[in-house]
Amino acid sequence: MISNCNLLLTLGTAAGFALAGCASSTPATTAATTPGTTAATTTATASAAPAAPGVGLDLAGRDLSVSPCDDFFHYAGGTWLKNTPIPAAQTSWGSFNILRDQNNAALRSILEQAAANTSAAKGTNAQKVGDFYASAMDSMAIEKAGLKYLQPELARIHAVKDLKGLQNALARHQMLQTRSVFGLGVNQDRKKSTEYALYLSQGGLGMPDRDNYLKDDARSKTIRTAYTTYLTNLFKLLGDNEATAKKGAETVVRLETRLAKASKERVALRDPYANYNKMTVAEANAQYPNLGLTAMLPQLGLASAKEVIVGQPDFLKEASTALKQEPLADWKTYLRAHLISSMTSALPKAYVDEEFRYQQVLTGAKVQQPRWKRMNLATDAALGEAFGQLYVEKAFTPETKAKALEMVGNIKEAMGEHIQQLSWMSDVTKKEALKKLNSFTVKIGYPDKWKDYSALTITRESYLKNVLAAREWGAKDRLSRYGQPIDRSVWGMTPPTVNAYYNSSLNEIVFPAGIMQPPFFDPKADDAVNYGGMGAVIGHEITHGFDDQGRQSDAEGNLRDWWTKEDAAEFTKRADMVGKQYSAFQPLDSVFVNGKLTMGENLADFGGLALAYSALQKQLAKQYGNNPRPNYDGLKPEQRFFLGWAQIWRTSARPEALRQQVQTDPHSPSQYRTNGPLMNMPEFYEAFGCKEDAKMVRAQNDRAKIW
Ligand SMILES: [Zn+2]
Repeated sequence: MISNCNLLLTLGTAAGFALAGCASSTPATTAATTPGTTAATTTATASAAPAAPGVGLDLAGRDLSVSPCDDFFHYAGGTWLKNTPIPAAQTSWGSFNILRDQNNAALRSILEQAAANTSAAKGTNAQKVGDFYASAMDSMAIEKAGLKYLQPELARIHAVKDLKGLQNALARHQMLQTRSVFGLGVNQDRKKSTEYALYLSQGGLGMPDRDNYLKDDARSKTIRTAYTTYLTNLFKLLGDNEATAKKGAETVVRLETRLAKASKERVALRDPYANYNKMTVAEANAQYPNLGLTAMLPQLGLASAKEVIVGQPDFLKEASTALKQEPLADWKTYLRAHLISSMTSALPKAYVDEEFRYQQVLTGAKVQQPRWKRMNLATDAALGEAFGQLYVEKAFTPETKAKALEMVGNIKEAMGEHIQQLSWMSDVTKKEALKKLNSFTVKIGYPDKWKDYSALTITRESYLKNVLAAREWGAKDRLSRYGQPIDRSVWGMTPPTVNAYYNSSLNEIVFPAGIMQPPFFDPKADDAVNYGGMGAVIGHEITHGFDDQGRQSDAEGNLRDWWTKEDAAEFTKRADMVGKQYSAFQPLDSVFVNGKLTMGENLADFGGLALAYSALQKQLAKQYGNNPRPNYDGLKPEQRFFLGWAQIWRTSARPEALRQQVQTDPHSPSQYRTNGPLMNMPEFYEAFGCKEDAKMVRAQNDRAKIW
């Protein structure tokens, strides 16, 4: 599950359903309601924790032939980048991947132990996690079963005889999460955060982006051809002859192209007001008659829904028209493709290999990830909190949580001071901004209340059966929130996740246990390194509450304009300057970063660093007062801070993956995440003694400053 306001997006996922905005992270849910609020009010006490020289930074990875003032990314990590090839199974390689890999080793031993235990009491989390993983690793049984456990779903599609039958099938596919035609979900109402609302949104594409269908450059054509071949081969595996399979693939691409043409571009999805169109279910049913909403909602447990928030009306109109206009047989072909392609990982090797061949074209990966890694991820997706509970018992300490809370407290305090000192913001707006900041909920490590998986049955009989059951359970779990009080304890990421997010509807920042590890946070390192890493990550998530999207919601998590006209105009002017800076970055020949798509993330990086830098200065002042601050490895704390930042973004990516990132990911490539903010920061110039004419130093008039 991917929130628009997370720290990093993982590549390789297909186009999701576009619910615009940060609140649209579809947090997986739990049953009841206890406020999961953790107030981060702790202020730091001078903890004398002098680091051993060299701890926390990989200084040998620097390239000293590059000036930090010309290209900090390559100065800080150039030797490491040169000497560290991207592993064949990876599409990019850097600090995130390496930490994930280390995490994987820990997770693997948990899973193997759970799978080896065949006597766990039935219905316990240990039994479910163990049986899920055991079934996932049993490739012999998966080969032998073939399509057996998918037959009931294939038969349902086969039996569709009319539009009504097609609508019923679409309802079923919402439960199976096959990403068919459109998205339907339950989330907090963006304008009334005390209630859950039903959302309808664009979706239904098999390739990562609408442009993959619509653009005619060589790269887009290559991807389209690979996708068509992939679908053709899937149909052949299902038993179609060559001609039928080819025709089937063309049909799917044709229908998806029709949906793609009606889809909004990613940048347009960032406008929360334009993507919020509330109407009654009766109105929606009249506008989009062929979706069959009135019959569909009861099937999804949503009979009581009277209103719906339509994300993209034009898309839904076109989808509705197409459902009737296009031949029924073609839609059945489409559903078959979506069912199979969403299930390949639980099918025999031939299906997995086809999917990988297509992914290779998208991402440039050379070989497949080993099965245990893929199944590790699948267990995380299906049983994330049951699995995560076992993980945190081993991998997360109260000391780490306490340190994280202390850092969050300090960085929040820094944000408060920055807001108060802003020269461009009026007192009225400042008051609202501070109110919002002081209402932040902070979640660290793992949920206070774990999900209850008791209604989910997992056995060793069939992996595919388990995947279907887990998907259905997950969909029910999310949809069943409708009409219930807001559950503030839910998490949108699982505990082992190496990532973090801001959710505007709950006005919360969330840091899973997985990211509280080196190089983001190292208990043995000095504060400078940790504030450059984890501190900047915390600042990043706090700033999301005030980026171009986050600033549009208030302390209660509602979309509401709390800015004076002048302040809003000034913010936009300053943000646009950042946008222009990033749009000029060119990661590949004739491929430019999209400053508008990456706006929120760039602002969060920039603001986050500024906040973490201030918090570090206060921390150092507390610790050393007027005494000289110690250097380690001959580096000042300020230098270590920026090296800590560069170190977390030290990453190489394959050109294919980089292209896909630029097209679909709201995060800029890591090179620009490293350098982009620093180029605006006099604190950086000073730390490294950069002169006015250095490449990393922007001219006064071109220098952005927001927070
Ligand atoms: Zn972010």
